[in-house]
Amino acid sequence: MNPRWLGEPFAFKDNKLCLARKVHKRLLAEAQEAFPYEYSALLTGRGTIITGHIPMSSAGKSLHTFTWDGAAFLKALTTIRESDLQWLGVLHSHPSSPPIPSRRDSDEWHYPSLSYWIVSLASSQPQWRVYQWQNGAFEARSYTVVDAT
Ligand SMILES: [Zn+2]
Repeated sequence: MNPRWLGEPFAFKDNKLCLARKVHKRLLAEAQEAFPYEYSALLTGRGTIITGHIPMSSAGKSLHTFTWDGAAFLKALTTIRESDLQWLGVLHSHPSSPPIPSRRDSDEWHYPSLSYWIVSLASSQPQWRVYQWQNGAFEARSYTVVDAT
């Protein structure tokens, strides 16, 4: 069983994954600000509703990959635990490619219960996708942007 702070946003059959509109907006703004570099963030909330995020600075600036600094990552997890929230997912940007997980994205994903978000800035209209890791592969899932909380 997962520790309490490690969420399972796809485990609730009747509740769809939701993203608070203000978080959606902030994530996009921060991803655009980081352009042409990749942006990444941890997504926090409770149950199936993402209500916050923690931007993660990359260990090395990269155009194609995101690698977190270990200490910063642990600090973010501590923040989540201490706020009595759950870690519900990860978002990263694809500055110049479609919102499809790369080979490396798959190889380096170690939290199958979480939601895996990609926002692509490759076309004039940003493209969002969320995936669930299932049976050894990422599968696209749907979500709703909500005004709540
Ligand atoms: Zn990627």
